Amino acid sequence: MPDAAGPSIVATPESRPFWDAARRHELSLQACRSCGRWVFYPRVACPHCFSADLEWRRASGRGRLHTFTIVHRGQRGFALPTPYVLAIVELDEGPRLMTNLVGVEPDPVRLRFGMPVEVVFDDVSPDLALPRFRPAQ
Ligand SMILES: [Zn+2]
Repeated sequence: MPDAAGPSIVATPESRPFWDAARRHELSLQACRSCGRWVFYPRVACPHCFSADLEWRRASGRGRLHTFTIVHRGQRGFALPTPYVLAIVELDEGPRLMTNLVGVEPDPVRLRFGMPVEVVFDDVSPDLALPRFRPAQ
């Protein structure tokens, strides 16, 4: 039987602060001190100006549904009941991340591109919380 989280997540030195923040139910992203832009996914250098002067900042947790698909047949090892919404969310800070949309029927009639969404955290184990998004309240 698959566990609640699906495949395990192996934090790297670059991504560990992201997962640590998620356990505190905070969405935290890197930001570049040289050019001021937000950076996601976690990495060692800014993709905009190549500076290594990155810091972690708490993000708003708000964004918009950029695109999505509805998964009707899940992958082995994932415990999410199908159908579910696999989504790309564009954060208000700019970066896009892959996530799940929850709190809404997985029906294309209920979803629209650009709809405002906000982060919620799913404590899938004592060591892991996954950021998912729901329609903004
Ligand atoms: Zn930069």
